[in-house]
Amino acid sequence: GIAIDRLAKRFGGTTVLRGISLEVAAGEFLALVGPSGCGKSTLLRSIAGIEHADSGTIRIGGQDVTGLRPSQRDVAMVFQSYALYPHLTVEENIAVPLAMRRLSAMQRLPLIGGWMPGPATARDSITHDVRQAANALGLGNLLSRRPGQLSGGQRQRVALARAIVRRPAAFLMDEPLSNLDASLRVQTRREIVAIHRAAGVATVYVTHDQSEALTMADRVAVMQAGEILQVAPPAEIYADPQDLRVATFIGSPR
Ligand code: ATP
Ligand code: MG
Repeated sequence: GIAIDRLAKRFGGTTVLRGISLEVAAGEFLALVGPSGCGKSTLLRSIAGIEHADSGTIRIGGQDVTGLRPSQRDVAMVFQSYALYPHLTVEENIAVPLAMRRLSAMQRLPLIGGWMPGPATARDSITHDVRQAANALGLGNLLSRRPGQLSGGQRQRVALARAIVRRPAAFLMDEPLSNLDASLRVQTRREIVAIHRAAGVATVYVTHDQSEALTMADRVAVMQAGEILQVAPPAEIYADPQDLRVATFIGSPR
């Protein structure tokens, strides 16, 4: 799981995170919502290690990661825009994190004559994990395509498969569906929930779409101006908002 304790962050004179404390259990899906500029992406980037907070601590899978770089944290993050390797196939793109992990296990042997080093047994296990992730996202018949031959929605699903393939302890998504059209969004939503369940990973999902938050999440965290106002299951946050700001943002009848 993820445990955040009194995380604070300023950019110049602006306080962006005001002592955030939040826990996400292993296997829990938490949706993070709030008005534009309230600090959602900054919080996610801090969990991933892309930003470093000024004070407070972050633990992932029981380990204090506060001072660690992104590559030293057991997290995967998917953004609204994503970068796939254009010269690699879908299968190879999804395999990159596993190949990298294998490489670092092999003491960073130089990458010569092929991107997937190691004995056949290791290759087989990588192939197995890649196919499993690809199938979960409906990419099973696109494995040999290159990104240039995919639709935007298919590319986003490759990015999701690549993020989940090495089974991180924390899975962070920052508005991953906002570039997709409505019907594709509904379909990909279901796939995201399914891969989350299968992986049993602590997930934080930032969205500006309240219905998405209320339908996908185990709990919803409502953020405003660098603070978390309320964290509760969707039904509770909708029926029993803690204050008017939550009610107004969620659109519940209070
Ligand atoms: P949105 O819903 O629009 O994506 P957000 O909740 O993700 O908004 P953040 O991106 O976390 O908001 O930004 C929070 C605040 O911090 C904003 O006021 C933003 O202008 C500011 N901010 C973010 N990154 C930086 C930066 N690198 N330097 C200075 N200010 C920043
Ligand atoms: Mg943002």
